[in-house]
Amino acid sequence: MAFDVDTLREDFPILRRTVASGAPLVYLDSGATTQKPLQVLDAERDFYLTRNAAVHRGAHQLAGEATEAYEGARHTVARFIGAADDEVVFTKNTTEAVNLVAYALGHAGRVGPGDRIVVTEMEHHANLVPWQQLAARTGATLDWFGLTDEGRLDLSRAAELLDERTKVLALTHQSNVLGTLNPVRELADRAHAAGALVVVDGAQSVPHRPVDVGELGADFLAFSGHKMLGPNGIGVLWGRAELLAGLPPFLTGGSMIEIVEMDRTTFLPPPQRFEAGVPMTAQAVGLAAAVEYLERLGMAQVAAYEDTLTARALDLLAEVPGVRIVGPRGLTDRGSAVSFTVDGVHPHDVGQVLDERGVAVRVGHHCARPLARRFGVPATTRASFYVYNTPEEVDALVAGVRAAQRYFGV
Ligand code: PMP
Repeated sequence: MAFDVDTLREDFPILRRTVASGAPLVYLDSGATTQKPLQVLDAERDFYLTRNAAVHRGAHQLAGEATEAYEGARHTVARFIGAADDEVVFTKNTTEAVNLVAYALGHAGRVGPGDRIVVTEMEHHANLVPWQQLAARTGATLDWFGLTDEGRLDLSRAAELLDERTKVLALTHQSNVLGTLNPVRELADRAHAAGALVVVDGAQSVPHRPVDVGELGADFLAFSGHKMLGPNGIGVLWGRAELLAGLPPFLTGGSMIEIVEMDRTTFLPPPQRFEAGVPMTAQAVGLAAAVEYLERLGMAQVAAYEDTLTARALDLLAEVPGVRIVGPRGLTDRGSAVSFTVDGVHPHDVGQVLDERGVAVRVGHHCARPLARRFGVPATTRASFYVYNTPEEVDALVAGVRAAQRYFGV
C-alpha cells in the first residue's frame, strides 16, 4: 500500500467525531457521498477569499483570475480522465449530465420512432429514467440487459440487443448496489459496430479506479464530484469532441451564446454551449483539488487499497450465518460497494443497530428499484468503502451485523 491511512485520515476532521450514543463515527456510506478533505475545503475557501468573480465576463482582473481558476479546474479534470479540455462539461452532478445527453440526443434527432435504447437492469435511476423519458418522447423502445444471479450482466442477448435498430447503449461502469464492474470496453465495441452511441455512468467508477476515456471506448461519461472527495453541486459530462460539437444545448441563456438578436441566437462551441449561466466556480476549483488529492494517492493504489477492504468485508460477512451478499463474491470484477441481506432481520433494523454503534451504512433500494426487484428483496444494507476507511472499520461493520442478529434473536 502506497499511502498511510492513519495520516490520510487527519485530512478528514469529520472522521474524528462521535454519534449520539458516544460511539466513534465509522463512515461506510461513501457510495452515497464521500467526505471532503481539508485540501478541498481550503481550495473552495481560498477561491472565495481571493479570486471570487463571475467567470467569462467582466474586463477586470478578478474576473480574469476567476476564469483562470475555473478553466484550470477543467484542465485538471480532463487530465484525470485522459480527455481534452473542451470535452469536459461541468454539470451539477451525474444526474444532470445524463439528462443533458439524453435531451440533446433527442433534440438532435439521433433517436427517433422505432429506434431502440438499451440500458441494463442494474442502472441507478439517474441512468434509467432519462432514457425512459427519451423513449417516450421520441417513440423509441427501451430494452435492457438482464442480470445473472451473481449480479453480472447477462450478455446472452447481446447480439439481439445491439443491432442496427439500437441508437444508444447507456450503462453503468460500476454498480452502486452490487459493486459489479461491467465490461464496458467489450460492450462499447459491439455497440459501435452496430452504429450505437455509448453513454457510461461513471459515478461509482471514476472515484475508485483509474479511468481513461481513451481506453474506456465510450462516447460519453458522467460522474459526480461529491462521490470523489469533491464538493456537492459539481459533476462532469465528458463527451467526444465531434459528438459534443453536433449536439444542441440542454439549457439556454447567458454564457453559452455567440450572437443574440431578438428573434434568433447562435451558440458557442462546447463546452460553453452546455454551461448556461454563471457556473459553479468554487465547486469546480474544489473538484480540481479533490482530483489532485486522488492523483497524489495514485488511482491504482486507491483501487488496490479498496480491494483489501472489500475482500475483508466479503470474507468476514461470509462467515456470518444468514448473511447473503447481493453481487459478485470475487474481486476480479467488482468494486467496494458491498450489499447484503441478513435472514430474519429487516435491512432497516440492521441499519439502525449499526447506526447506534456509529456505523453509517445505507439501507433501501439505493435508487435502483428494478435491481432490488430482480433479486427479490425489498431492500439491502450497503456498506461502501473509500480511501479513508480502515480494516478495523470493516470489523466494526461485521460486529454490528452480528449484534443485530443477537438483538433480533436470529
Ligand atoms: N449513478 C450511480 C451509479 C450512482 O451511484 C449515483 C449516486 N448514488 C448516481 C448515478 C447519481 O449521482 P448524483 O446524485 O450525484 O447525480
